Amino acid sequence: MSKKQNPKLPGSYSCAGCMACGDACPKQCISFPLGADGHWQPKIDMNRCIQCHSCERACPVLHRKKELSVQSVPYATWTNNDGIRRLSSSGGTFAQIATSFLLEGGVVIGARIEGLDVRHILIQEIEDLPVLQSSKYIQSDTQSIYNQAKECLKVGKKVLFSGTGCQVAAIYNFIPEKYWNNLFTIDLICHGVPSRYDLWRYLGMHDKRIVGIKSFRDKSWKIGYAMTCIAEDGSMIRDDNNYFYNAFNNNKSLRWSCYNCKFKTGLQRCSDITIGDFWGGEKFQEERKKGLSLCVIHTNKGRALLSKTNIVVRETSWEECLPKNKDYFYPNNIFRYNPFRWFYPYLVRHLSDQVLNHVIGSNGNTESKKYIPLVLIDVIFQHFNYFLAKKAINKILWKVPQK
Ligand SMILES: Cc1cc2nc3c(=O)[nH]c(=O)nc-3n(C[C@H](O)[C@H](O)[C@H](O)COP(=O)(O)OP(=O)(O)OC[C@H]3O[C@@H](n4cnc5c(N)ncnc54)[C@H](O)[C@@H]3O)c2cc1C
Repeated sequence: MSKKQNPKLPGSYSCAGCMACGDACPKQCISFPLGADGHWQPKIDMNRCIQCHSCERACPVLHRKKELSVQSVPYATWTNNDGIRRLSSSGGTFAQIATSFLLEGGVVIGARIEGLDVRHILIQEIEDLPVLQSSKYIQSDTQSIYNQAKECLKVGKKVLFSGTGCQVAAIYNFIPEKYWNNLFTIDLICHGVPSRYDLWRYLGMHDKRIVGIKSFRDKSWKIGYAMTCIAEDGSMIRDDNNYFYNAFNNNKSLRWSCYNCKFKTGLQRCSDITIGDFWGGEKFQEERKKGLSLCVIHTNKGRALLSKTNIVVRETSWEECLPKNKDYFYPNNIFRYNPFRWFYPYLVRHLSDQVLNHVIGSNGNTESKKYIPLVLIDVIFQHFNYFLAKKAINKILWKVPQK
């Protein structure tokens, strides 16, 4: 009898951290410890592994079951319900779609903040929707969520799954095709996910002990990257141009796989809808002040989802929205070569808050002369990235069929 082979999951440079392998394992022998860079990696307990290879079949990096959409059409969308919009990062598109989905008896899956962490959960009631609203800029823990979705689909429930591109590709690998009719998916335009260590270091930089995060994008005091944390004494700490966001936006600690994201598949996707921020163009200036979504419809199911809401939908073109939103399809891969990223595990562990702020949390300027060389490295990478992204955008726009 031939000897069974051990499963081989992607290594730390390519694993996307979607955690579908863990849910797929019938022996629950895959855990997800944090690696040296603050991103979790699957670890198989080979003593319990029965070499069934279910983990490999679920992995969207190794293969993808769901084909890409044929034609994808971008829209600018927003809700006129100010309450919903205020709780959402951009135009409230996700919440409006989720509301009509819940009203029809479906279940909705998305990410919620739990203390200082973020986890995917399943909701069935509209009252629970606010916890899923708004972006949480850290990779969400999806352990057990794929199994929960499958259980719902098995009993005939409709499921709306929302998450990053890797998580959406993973759910299609995980769910047998016979249930796909009732599975609806929304993925996000995703810049990548920063290290949990960045978040923890940032939280530790405050005088007061932080016990919770209220919002990563709190529109109650600012439109944009505005964070509100909860201190131990119950007070709210509001902060925008901070270490965490600078490190995130400068790509210094993203998951390795994000620099080479396999789920930024040109204009097409395997989801029904993609949502992100609508940054581009001269149009909709007033709406952008309150938050505006870029909503890309990929399938008829996606179109049907949108048509059931009372959301405002306006036509746009790729020429208008893409140049200002390179993250839709461009993974900023040049930053893989950034020395700051290579030494990140060492830097985040050993540097003082003040120095770390300059080295990782720099936003391209410094008042201290001794940090100028470091900032220069940053500036060179940012400019080179900008140049490459522009080239990639022109290339992709050139292929778009003209109306
Ligand atoms: C890590 C991350 C990076 C992003 N990067 C970009 C970007 O570069 N450019 C851009 O245009 N948009 C980006 N977005 C998306 C953007 O911030 C908004 O989420 C999007 O515009 C939807 O806005 P909304 O108002 O419709 O819904 P919102 O209510 O703001 O969004 C809620 C939806 O986001 C999901 N979600 C929130 N946090 C997470 C998470 N950590 N993991 C998985 N799903 C999550 C929820 O499940 C829900 O489906 C990013 C989002 C995340 C989470």
